[in-house]
Amino acid sequence: MPRTVAVVGGGISGLAACYHLARGPGAPKVVLLEGSARLGGWLQSTRTEDGAVFEHGPRGVRPAGAAGRDTLRMVMLGGAWFTQSFGDPAAAVPAVLLGRARGAVRAQLGLEAAPSRAIVKVHQACIPQYTLGHWQRTESISRYVTERRLPLSLVGASYGGVSVNDCIASAKVAASRILGPSC
Ligand SMILES: Cc1cc2nc3c(=O)[nH]c(=O)nc-3n(C[C@H](O)[C@H](O)[C@H](O)COP(=O)(O)OP(=O)(O)OC[C@H]3O[C@@H](n4cnc5c(N)ncnc54)[C@H](O)[C@@H]3O)c2cc1C
Repeated sequence: MPRTVAVVGGGISGLAACYHLARGPGAPKVVLLEGSARLGGWLQSTRTEDGAVFEHGPRGVRPAGAAGRDTLRMVMLGGAWFTQSFGDPAAAVPAVLLGRARGAVRAQLGLEAAPSRAIVKVHQACIPQYTLGHWQRTESISRYVTERRLPLSLVGASYGGVSVNDCIASAKVAASRILGPSC
C-alpha cells in the first residue's frame, strides 16, 4: 500500500514538493492542501487584454533583446521602512507610490518616458525577514524533528532562503529525503 504524503501550501515550495514526490516509481500518494482559492502563493500575475503580463511577485520570463528589456520595469519600494516613508500600508495611495517609483527610475536609470501602463500592488508581510539567530533556530528545529523521527519536513521561504530557487531546491531535498536513497 503506497504511503500518503500531505503537502501544506500550494506556493512554489509546495508545488515543487508535489512535483518531486509524485515522480518516479513507488511514488507516494500526494495530497496538496491549499488554504486559498488559488495556487502559486506569491507567484501571481495579471495579464491585460492586449497580452501584457504584470508580475506581482518574483519577476518572470520576458521577451529577450532590447524590446524585452524595456517591456517591464518592476520597482520594489518599501521593506522595513515602508511605514516610515508612506504611512499605513493598508491606506497607501497608489498614485503616490507610482510617483515615487517613476522618480526612482528617472534618477537611477535615467529613463524619462512615462510608462504606457502601470500597476501598483501593496503586499504586506510578503518576503520573510530573517532576524539574527535565524539559522540557529532552523537548525534546532531540524534537530528536534530528526531526533524524534517526526514525519515532518519544513520547506519554503520562511526557512532556508527566500528566492524561488531556494524554495525549489529545499522542496527537492525534502522530497528525496521522504522517498529515500533509491529514488
Ligand atoms: C514582490 C516579490 C518579489 C519577489 N521577487 C523575487 C525574485 O525576483 N526572485 C526570486 O527568486 N524570488 C523573489 N521573491 C521571493 C519568492 O517569490 C517567494 O519567497 C516564494 O514565492 C515563496 O514561496 P513559498 O511557496 O515558500 O511561499 P508562499 O508563496 O507564501 O506560498 C505558501 C502557500 O501556502 C498557503 N498556506 C499558508 N498557510 C496555509 C495553511 N495553514 N493551510 C493551507 N495552505 C496554507 C498560502 O495560501 C500559499 O499559497 C519575491 C517575492 C515577492 C513577494
